[in-house]
Amino acid sequence: MSILDKFTAVHALKSGLAHTGVDPTTVVFERIISATEGVVEGRSTILAGTNNYLGLTFDPDCIAAGIDAMRSYGTGTTGSRMANGSYSAHGELEAELADFFQVDNAMVFSTGYAANLGVLTALLGKGDIVLLDSDAHASLYDGCRMSGADIFRFKHNDVQSLERRLGRLQDRAGRCLIVVEGLYSVLGDSAPLAEMVKVKERFGASLLVDEAHSLGVLGERGCGVAEQQGVLDKVDFIVGTFSKSLGAMGGFCASKHDALKLFRYISRPFMFTASPSPAVVATTRQALQRLRTKPELKETLWANAKRLYKGLEELGFELGPEVGPVVAVRCRDRESALSDWNTLLTAGVYVNMMLPPATPGGASFLRCSVSAAHSTDQIDTIIKEFAKLRSG
Ligand code: PMP
Repeated sequence: MSILDKFTAVHALKSGLAHTGVDPTTVVFERIISATEGVVEGRSTILAGTNNYLGLTFDPDCIAAGIDAMRSYGTGTTGSRMANGSYSAHGELEAELADFFQVDNAMVFSTGYAANLGVLTALLGKGDIVLLDSDAHASLYDGCRMSGADIFRFKHNDVQSLERRLGRLQDRAGRCLIVVEGLYSVLGDSAPLAEMVKVKERFGASLLVDEAHSLGVLGERGCGVAEQQGVLDKVDFIVGTFSKSLGAMGGFCASKHDALKLFRYISRPFMFTASPSPAVVATTRQALQRLRTKPELKETLWANAKRLYKGLEELGFELGPEVGPVVAVRCRDRESALSDWNTLLTAGVYVNMMLPPATPGGASFLRCSVSAAHSTDQIDTIIKEFAKLRSG
């Protein structure tokens, strides 16, 4: 028995994919031409699996801000903020985030994954309780597990299931954190946050919402699902990432609780990793400005999302329950998902392949993410290529 034996199973899984001739984990973009177009195996390909919801990766001002920062401050910070000091732009970004979410406190992490680990491990410990939505992202689950708190899962988006779990905690409910996503990453459905807030207040619990996929996408100012449902000021901790609608990299937490100011002294995923680079921070700040100054991006995104959802629905595909920028197409089984994914890629359309166990209900999906930068022609081409899957 060796520590390497476990890789036999991983190898079998990998060979299984290779055997089908299709392996979505090895896709290479040889060139990126724009926010919505790349080159794969020499073919021009529409990018419909990027999370680049506002298309900001090629925004000229975001690019210029990144280049300026790199020229002025160098390529990297070469260390963590606790050990090696902060750059003023780190604090400025935190102040801008706090202002954006209209709370007193914000903290920046090096990735969204690190933000979830960093916040959950600072906030929770042995004796605390987490009620975690059953479809919550791996980073939320990992953070809860690392914290040492007792974890109970409740049925996805089911307020009654949450209520029942809270009821069972009795006088421990005050030590409970409810952990959910705003807009769910695989099916694109949103959490019933307004109802969840009522329940958490009744039991005296706290609520953390991961708005990774809803930042810049939902809510009048683009704060996410909590803003859209009118409960932004009731959520205890908002976490999210800069790597999707902001087109950069990094993660954050915004909170009305002043305790967040102290997280940096105990949060190991904050303390023991290099801080975000000057270019990344500058790009993120400029992208955040874009949310404020270009609300029309959100409108274009939604027009594109509605067009794609309607087009695929009319073709008879089984889609996620809500119209939105994440459009998940349910496949008959794993084999048809692999084959359809490959047919689309060969036709010049890249989407995400979502296979169990990383999927709700163990189903297989082709997941499209829509961008404000998609042209109407590109959306129609995506629909046309999906139509061929039906007729083929
Ligand atoms: N939370 C959710 C809901 C996500 O979907 C993701 C990324 N897929 C993350 C957190 C992690 O973000 P990052 O990629 O910035 O680490």
